[in-house]
Amino acid sequence: MRTPLYISIAIGLAAANAAAQRAPTNGVRPARLVVRNATVVDGNGTPAKGPYDIVVENGTIMQMVALDPVAAGRGGASRRPRADANTAEIDATGKYVLPGLINAHAHLQDERAGQAQPIDYELKIWLACGITAVRDVGSTTQKALAWRDASAKGTLAAPRIFIYPQFGRPTNADSARARVRALKAQGVDGIKLLGIDRDIMQAMEDEAHREGLRIAHHVGVEETNAWDDIHFGTTSIEHWYGIPDAAILDGVQGFPSYYNYNNETDRFRWAGHLWREADPKRLDMVLDSMVARKVAWVPTLDIYEASRDLQRAKTQPWFADYLHPTLEEYFRPDPANHGSYFFGWSSTDETFWKENYRIWMSALRDFERKGGLIGAGDDAGFIYQMYGFGLLRELELHQEAGFSTIKVIQHATGNNARILGKENEIGRVRQGFKADLIVVNGNPLENLKVLYPTGVEDVKDGRVVLTGGVEWTIKDGIPYHGPTLMREVKEIVAKARAERGQRNDKTQRR
Ligand SMILES: [Zn+2]
Repeated sequence: MRTPLYISIAIGLAAANAAAQRAPTNGVRPARLVVRNATVVDGNGTPAKGPYDIVVENGTIMQMVALDPVAAGRGGASRRPRADANTAEIDATGKYVLPGLINAHAHLQDERAGQAQPIDYELKIWLACGITAVRDVGSTTQKALAWRDASAKGTLAAPRIFIYPQFGRPTNADSARARVRALKAQGVDGIKLLGIDRDIMQAMEDEAHREGLRIAHHVGVEETNAWDDIHFGTTSIEHWYGIPDAAILDGVQGFPSYYNYNNETDRFRWAGHLWREADPKRLDMVLDSMVARKVAWVPTLDIYEASRDLQRAKTQPWFADYLHPTLEEYFRPDPANHGSYFFGWSSTDETFWKENYRIWMSALRDFERKGGLIGAGDDAGFIYQMYGFGLLRELELHQEAGFSTIKVIQHATGNNARILGKENEIGRVRQGFKADLIVVNGNPLENLKVLYPTGVEDVKDGRVVLTGGVEWTIKDGIPYHGPTLMREVKEIVAKARAERGQRNDKTQRR
């Protein structure tokens, strides 16, 4: 008697259940890992495809076996990769597998304003949000180097770390060149510029190109703007300053006479008027030239969002369980803390900023249409943005800018890998690439919110269920279980809050 089709499906499911019993252990690299029956979204801007069985060994994607579900139902399953006693398996049926997300604008932070904050807090949220690599654009370099090594060895639960230290402010060309060589000798991956005069920038970039170091530039309102990045060969412009500035016909924004750049409230308020002052024709030339000279753009749309909607920024749902009290204190308006400038922030300020975003987003769209390379980073740890959650919000804002979700995912994976110069190793779900993969509960091409570790609500059989989230973040072949990491983060936060409460009680009694 032939087995009816529905019974063979049932047998198939039973096999899948048996496979689920060999689930990996959080944080332990198995000798061999098979991710079964996955729908794959690659990081190269192509649509979803699948199902695949993905075989991982020694931190590398060894095999991508395309499955034909119909053939499998008729006994064709023998072609699927087998599992031996050393194989861990993840059943990705109904789930989506993407390359691990790359955060191209991150800061390793184990303190805020001098108050300690355990580094594990940030690292674990990153992993739970599906982030398998970060470009650190300013931290304590010595510590960052140690964390980078520990992460590479697999002894620290962390994404891959690429270190771009802040360049500082050498006063002449010779000391700028010496500074580049000293950083290279320290073993950094690139350099972050923030505030620099043209002659120093020229020497610095020339030396960095000789040393093979990439350059990320946070352009301020200063002598240099995007034209200098275009001429000297900057790898990526961070945020957005410097691009509209390069398109202002009069060369300087129409600041009020009382404006003081070092007053952050002034600075952020008038930044909200910047895009409207850019001449559209000149802006087109700037974008064309960036494309021609391969200057990428990492816009960090998320980090300015408080300027267009302060209330949203201050009341994000994940603050309840996951906002560390050190970070919470840092976010409070305080002129001493960078980005904590919201004094008297008005509906008029928000309205200017909303227009600012509209022009900025359309410039981003134009830039990509012209062939420009857009990355994604969150700059979290400032201005009400939490680590990890900030990058996921960034992806939503890329969608709001008009990019399809396929392109949005490419921004955070394949494009970011290109910005790092690692496009042949990470950012793809492809045989021979590093096994940096995420297994997502839900379809991020339909709803990017399924990536949030706090999940999304859905209705199943008439009941409200919580679904979504990155279930497994596999970095270098090591599987990390998202919900377990978030439980640990919650404990870190609860403990810190309790300690903070005790300390406050003591000070009140004094
Ligand atoms: Zn930054």
